[in-house]
Amino acid sequence: YTGKTGFELLSDQLKKLIVRHHHSVPVVVNDQVSVYDAITTMFLEDVGTLFVVNDHSLLVGVLSRKDLLRASMGNQDLSDVPVHIIMTRNPKIKVCEKDDLLLDAANKLIENQIDALPVVIEREDGLEVVGRLTKTNITKAFVELVKEDV
Ligand code: ADP
Repeated sequence: YTGKTGFELLSDQLKKLIVRHHHSVPVVVNDQVSVYDAITTMFLEDVGTLFVVNDHSLLVGVLSRKDLLRASMGNQDLSDVPVHIIMTRNPKIKVCEKDDLLLDAANKLIENQIDALPVVIEREDGLEVVGRLTKTNITKAFVELVKEDV
């Protein structure tokens, strides 16, 4: 018997959770697509966050539901506005990697008050998007932790 309290055991379990086992498939759009098309993609793919990539498939931005709502409030034709005009761009983008602790990624979501992080691989010329880590992924991991216990 380790003499650890239930809380310490739970905390040990939490620190074993790694991003690679919990993330979802990323949904990306090119930076030249219109706000209108991005809204369509968000509905069709049923996600709350889109990642924006350039022609080399490298991460250049993030689009949330509110970004798209905000853009819709103007009088412009949404088919004429490319998403790179309204997206959140570097250096503001928060990311995580497959080997990161789920706990560290969760902290990033909270500290930055955001719903999702792109899971990235660092390339010579930029970041390749390989996944999407959301609050839902973290909630699921939390629930699974209890299921394993019973
Ligand atoms: P919503 O806008 O639907 O509430 P978020 O809370 O995720 O969704 O987004 C809030 C703001 O933060 C938006 O402007 C969005 O572009 C930005 N944002 C979302 N995810 C990230 C991220 N991973 N890195 C940097 N900014 C982000």
